[in-house]
Amino acid sequence: MTGTKHVYCFGNDASGTDVTEAAGATVDEAKFIVGGKGANLAEMARIGLPVPPGFSITCQTCVAFSSAGNRWNDSAVLDEIDAAREDLEKRMGKKLGDVDDPLLVSVRSGAPFSMPGMMDTVLNLGLNDVSVEGLIAQTNNARFGWDSYRRFIQMFSNVVMGVDADLFENALTSRKLAKGVKSDTDLSADDLKDLASEFKEIFAKHVDGKKHPEVADATGKVSFPQDPKLQLRLAIEAVFGSWNNARAILYRKQNKIPDDLGTAVNVQVMVFGNKGDTSATGVAFTRNPADGTNERYGDFLINAQGEDVVAGIRNTEPIADLLKVPALKKAGKELFHIFEVLEDHYRDMMDIEFTIEQGKLWMLQTRVGKRTALSALKVALDMEKEDRISREEAILRVDPAQLDQLLHPQLDPRAKLDVLATGLNASPGAAVGEVVFSSDEAVKLAEQGRPCILVRWETNPDDLKGMVAAEGILTSHGGKTSHAAVIARGMGAPCVCGAEALRIDATRKEARVAGTKVVLHEGDVITIDGTTGRVVLGAVALVRPDLTGDLETILSWADEICMDSSRGRNIGVRANADNPADAQLSRDFGAEGIGLCRTEHMFLGERKQIIQSFILAESEGLKENALGQLLDAQKGDFLKMFEVMNGKTVIVRLLDPPLHEFLDDPRELACDIARMEERGASKEELAPKRDLLRRIDAMSEANPMLGLRGCRLGILYPGIVDMQVRAIATATAELRSRGLDPQPEIMVPLISTAEELVQLREQIENLIADIGARFSLDLTIPIGTMIELPRAALEAEEIAKHADFFSFGTNDLTQTAFGFSRDDVESAFIPTYLRRKILAYNPFETLDTGVNKLVKIALEGGHASNPKIVCGVCGETGGDPESIYMYYDDGVDYVSCSPYRVPIARLTAAQAKIKANGGAQGR
Ligand code: PEP
Ligand code: MG
Repeated sequence: MTGTKHVYCFGNDASGTDVTEAAGATVDEAKFIVGGKGANLAEMARIGLPVPPGFSITCQTCVAFSSAGNRWNDSAVLDEIDAAREDLEKRMGKKLGDVDDPLLVSVRSGAPFSMPGMMDTVLNLGLNDVSVEGLIAQTNNARFGWDSYRRFIQMFSNVVMGVDADLFENALTSRKLAKGVKSDTDLSADDLKDLASEFKEIFAKHVDGKKHPEVADATGKVSFPQDPKLQLRLAIEAVFGSWNNARAILYRKQNKIPDDLGTAVNVQVMVFGNKGDTSATGVAFTRNPADGTNERYGDFLINAQGEDVVAGIRNTEPIADLLKVPALKKAGKELFHIFEVLEDHYRDMMDIEFTIEQGKLWMLQTRVGKRTALSALKVALDMEKEDRISREEAILRVDPAQLDQLLHPQLDPRAKLDVLATGLNASPGAAVGEVVFSSDEAVKLAEQGRPCILVRWETNPDDLKGMVAAEGILTSHGGKTSHAAVIARGMGAPCVCGAEALRIDATRKEARVAGTKVVLHEGDVITIDGTTGRVVLGAVALVRPDLTGDLETILSWADEICMDSSRGRNIGVRANADNPADAQLSRDFGAEGIGLCRTEHMFLGERKQIIQSFILAESEGLKENALGQLLDAQKGDFLKMFEVMNGKTVIVRLLDPPLHEFLDDPRELACDIARMEERGASKEELAPKRDLLRRIDAMSEANPMLGLRGCRLGILYPGIVDMQVRAIATATAELRSRGLDPQPEIMVPLISTAEELVQLREQIENLIADIGARFSLDLTIPIGTMIELPRAALEAEEIAKHADFFSFGTNDLTQTAFGFSRDDVESAFIPTYLRRKILAYNPFETLDTGVNKLVKIALEGGHASNPKIVCGVCGETGGDPESIYMYYDDGVDYVSCSPYRVPIARLTAAQAKIKANGGAQGR
């Protein structure tokens, strides 16, 4: 499709030569040839809109130029550019550099995806010492002519030759001072003429002739290039070169734009918005990009160039007022008509740049407008109502990840921020409160009605009460699947984790901020922004965007698509929840069930003491006693959860984490003992502490994540399995006798061999049968397993013979497939890996292709031996839109994610289905 053509013409007079016709490409395909700007200019011209003529040099030419070390390997390309220039001159009946009536062009970048302000632009190209006179003669405006020339010299010198921009600004300022004037516009034609000479001297002095022999003569003397062909070639090279400037590289990384796309260069006839009061320039959106209202939105400036609008040096006028200026009214009417034409043509809200030159309107750019989530929803729904797009298209128009903006409080976008540190954006939303360094303090403040932020090195299960009490959580260690992150997301609490600049000293109740003099003390107020990872000093105003009915509408449309079996396969959405409140929230957000109830989260608070006494008890009697107490507590939990989720599946996972997570920290205990010894505590007082430390030490493991956890716990401590299954089965039986319809399923974690499941299943089934008999019920509870170890994925065919369902635990599967410690690597080195492109993205956030291979192997194996097996995902990737697309293609039955991500997943599930079925059907 790209062929060997390097240059495509566009303009109302260039029919048949623009890229959409010449290359037979659609606008979307053309973007990858001549960039977004080039494709849309060609398209606007094709549909008859007034576009200044020009030509685009392809992105592929840029890629070849960059790979050859910023050189032209193929001189035929330069010939093609030359031919396009000559053609443009012919079309315009003017020549670059002409002494009587010169043609001037702009040279701009334009990549396939918009990268605003990241690359270079040169305006007014074609001016030189003689053509400036021609421009003056043509416009009868010496001031305009010299101003254009001095701007060109300034821009060319800085952008193309890398001369420090300040040298020109300083010269301009000195001139204004000398003249006693404030503004550039107060300088006369003569002043600007003098400045043009001064700028040429700066050029001659600061450009290195050895580095740029093109602008030096045989003796090495440098002068500003007078040959417009040379100006053009150098400007094109500079724009191509700017694809790889540091700013552009960073922007691509942040926006996940591939580095190998290249940018096009658009060479376009200049039009001027600064030719007096009948000229103007502006930017506009066809609708309001902030809230979606169907109104003209944007600004313009009379007698100005495009840059002046963006730079904000003069106060702009609202776009609607164009009609109030008699000299601009006709162009304004035409512009607003074009808004309609563009919306009809592109069937979307568009972003526009225009110039009015002496009353004549010119369209300089259009592209699909960027918008907030609120606006995206409203525009999509309105356009469906206006019959511009179908329901399916409306669903595809909303970026699911953006919906987060509507579900959590955000920083007021107008607020000034004193950013102290940046960590991982672990759980979206913003929170303001007093710094506290312990969970107890958080609870104390919450009781007094004082909002607080819990600041910890890393949280542990013991911190749950503090996390619940606090408005937000901030840690200096741990990644996006660390304890703090997972729990915060589950609760919908804002969380920034792994903010490494914080040096927390919880004993002194202070945190130093590395690289600054700031020390945070308990009680200082901070704001955290879990959407971006920023930690801000002081209280920032928060805004909670209204949850309009639009979100509900789009989700109901999404659900209709998902439930329509005539359109093919579905992917369901469940939630990860482990308490009745979260279960209720999940239902409210439209979850079809609970895909993961982590029972360890039910063993916190005072129950921690009980499980501790079980783990540490050295006599069977004590162990049984502890289990008895836990049984009562767990049964109570399940009664409530199953009732809230009546009629819907609740997958209860048996205890999973390393047991030491329930025990006291041996280092803290040793410190306690040392302090007691210092105080002269007696042997008797010390004995229980020492005994406790001995028993905890005896349980310590070098790699707890790979140690005694998951199903291994159940095998070594069958009493725990017994207690949990009894609690689940009894709660089920009791609710059934009350006429309810509980639907629990039991999930065994961290299986690596089929035999582990075989043995545990037998134990679980026997217990269920026992309890069923006791209640005279035919009690069957499906039993399944997590697939979260590579061996389990590879042996899925064997394991599936004994499982009613699989649930992919991609947190552990990613950890074990990569050999990455999930709690350590995200802040320790994943950022470096991303920067150095060792990884394209964080695999704990978005499903990794290698891990996906394991998922596919397991799905295939599982279905081979058990065609009815239900397969879901309950790791963090289950709530990530990009991963959900992959899971849909894999044939996964459902994803399960934190309650707040359920709406996002519902929308993505519908999008995945629409895309898999050939995309949206049009109107
Ligand atoms: C997983 O490993 O993906 C999972 C859901 O389990 P957890 O995060 O509780 O280990
Ligand atoms: Mg796991």
